[in-house]
Formats: sequence, C-alpha cells, structure tokens
Amino acid sequence: MPELHLKYGGSTMARTVNCHAWTRLSERIQKPAVNGAANRGSFLHDIAETCILAQNIPASDFVGHYSEKWDYLISEEDAAEVETALNAASKLFNEYGIKDYITEEFVKINDLIGGSADVIAWGDTHAIILDWKFGFNEVSPIQSWQGATYALSALYSDTIGDKLEGKKILFAIIQPKVSDTAQVYEFTDRELDEMEDQILTSVQIHEEGGGEATPGEWCQFCPAGPVCPSKIMQAQAAVRLPKDVSMDLETALALAEQLEPWVREVRKFAHEMLEQGAEIPGWKLVARKSAGRTWVDEKQALARLKAMRKVKLEDYCDIKLKSAPQIEKLCKTKKIDFQKEFSDLVETKSSGTTLAPADDKRPAVSALLTQGEVTAALSKIA
Ligand code: SF4
Repeated sequence: MPELHLKYGGSTMARTVNCHAWTRLSERIQKPAVNGAANRGSFLHDIAETCILAQNIPASDFVGHYSEKWDYLISEEDAAEVETALNAASKLFNEYGIKDYITEEFVKINDLIGGSADVIAWGDTHAIILDWKFGFNEVSPIQSWQGATYALSALYSDTIGDKLEGKKILFAIIQPKVSDTAQVYEFTDRELDEMEDQILTSVQIHEEGGGEATPGEWCQFCPAGPVCPSKIMQAQAAVRLPKDVSMDLETALALAEQLEPWVREVRKFAHEMLEQGAEIPGWKLVARKSAGRTWVDEKQALARLKAMRKVKLEDYCDIKLKSAPQIEKLCKTKKIDFQKEFSDLVETKSSGTTLAPADDKRPAVSALLTQGEVTAALSKIA
C-alpha cells in the first residue's frame, strides 16, 4: 500500500470536485480510526500486488497469514477473491495487448494532486490505470474522477509518461464482490483535458478557503459529515416537517437513505469526542452493560474440570450440532457423500425480506401481503 500521500488524492477527487467545502470542514475533525473492513481491503491489495509482481505465487499461499500491520488474518474466501481479481487482470491485459506494468507507482499532476495507482499497464495501443476494490459497494469506472486523476498524473510522470503518451487511456476497476471481470472505461483526450481543468480549478478553490457544501453521492465517507452544515440543515428540515404534510413513502425512504449514514457518523464522532475528554452539553459517557465473568484461560479451566471426578463432560460443556454447511465440509474431508446421507434432513429457510433500492442486483421477491392488506395497514398509520 502507498506510503506517500498528497493533499488531493484520486480516491477523494470526486468529492473535491463536487463539494468545495469538505477539506475546510474536515480540518476540525480528528482523523477517524481505520476500521476492520479498510484493513482487510489494504491487506488484500498488498497480496494482489505481491502476486501480480511475482506472477507465480498463487493467492492461496496466503491463507492463514496474519498481518500485524493490518491486524487481519487471511481466510480461504479472501484468497479466492484475490485470485478472481488476478484472473480478471490477466484477461484484461490479454484483451488489450498489455506488455508491461508497474504497481503502486507514485504519480502526480503537481505537488498537491496525485497518488499511487494500484497498477499502471501499457501495450502498443492502450494504457490501463487499474484499481483493485475489495468492498461490496459497487464502484463504476465511467468518467471516474479517481481514474482521471491517476491517468493525468501518470501522463505527467517523468518515469512512465512516455509509455502512456499517444495511447488510448482506460480506467479499469476490478471488484470481485461485484463481478469476476474488469469494468473498463475509455477516456477521450478531450474528456481528460476537461477533467484536468475541473480538478485544477476545484483544488484552487479548496486552497483559497473553499466554497459551499454541496451534498451528493460523494458525501459517503466524507470526514466532515458530522459537522457539515448542509447535512445538518437537511436533518433539521426533516424533523421540522409538520405532521400534516403527507410525504409519500418513496420520498420518505429517499430522505432516510440520506440521513441514516449521517446519523451514524454523528453518533460515532460524538462518542469519540467524549472519549477524548471533550464536553457535549446534554450528553455523557456511560459504561456498557458488563458481558459478565469470562474465563481468562479456557484451556486451563477445561483441564481442571476434566481432572475432577465429581463432574461429567455434559455438566460443563454444551454439545451443539454443527450447521449443515459445516457438516458438509466435514463430509468432504472424510469422503462421505453428504447429499446421500443428509439431504432429507436439510432445508433452506428464508430469513425474511429486506428493503433494497430498485437497482439492487438481487431479484425482487413477491410481496408477503396483498395490496388490500397493505392499504389496510397503511390506513392505520395515516
Ligand atoms: S458531507 Fe457532503 S456536503 Fe458535507 S462537506 Fe462532506 S461532501 Fe460536502
């Protein structure tokens, strides 16, 4: 993972261009602690980089590896995900006649703008800026500000600029949780020129103190979210809505989608502030409910219990049947035909339905209630 960072990097460029207030507002915010999902992503990036550079190391070699830096242990699923990403990259490179590539090259447009692209690859006709994504949230390469930032930075680079010059510039996202092939977008020269102008203008506005907070999809992960005036106004407007305003469910859900992440960020930020000794009028920290007494050393406790003649195994252990998928796995290792032995004892139970936007990839399921029942239910809360 890159160690060098400039103030305006690729991953935040969409926000930088679209909201001219976020850098100013986030100066008041302490950097949030890195979460487990981010650590996992960083570790998988490192493994993808090692494998693509070495070419003959399979990602499966990393199963069971623990990284102290990322505090994360690689599972079989993680390794399979990296393997999918590497296969997608290999297919992509074949398709576009890629002859060479470098990883984590630090490139910049100027001393404020730039960063390290995961992979920069080139052949005779095409150059590819490639970004690995190991999260669930689908990221599109189309007219990506991140892609444009790295592409422009690479074109300016003294070391690799000439490898990209005169070639078609592609931005590719490989996101195994979304697709096992790369999602690719080709920038036109004109588009890159226009995006460069917008990037430079926006950065200048930020450097001169910034402008208005402008909410949009780029608000996700914005560190300034908890103190953002635009978000606060949105929330205030929502709570001040008079009761007799009839808001349709579609509008209410759209509002909830925007406010929910903000509410979570505000709570998290306030908790961190209080833990660091700040005062927030009307709020305090309280201890969580104790999880009860726990064994310091389970092995020793078990050994002592085993040595006691007065107690039997069932007195101190709950024996619980493992799940069907766990037993299926066990059967594989013991060469037992799971289907033959247990198929009559296994069923797939639905855990109910959940709300999702219409463009969610999962298929829609039929309603559990009839339209008449829905109307009756809604009339009770109207
Ligand atoms: S939360 Fe959104 S509107 Fe507010 S500063 Fe951040 S990007 Fe701008």
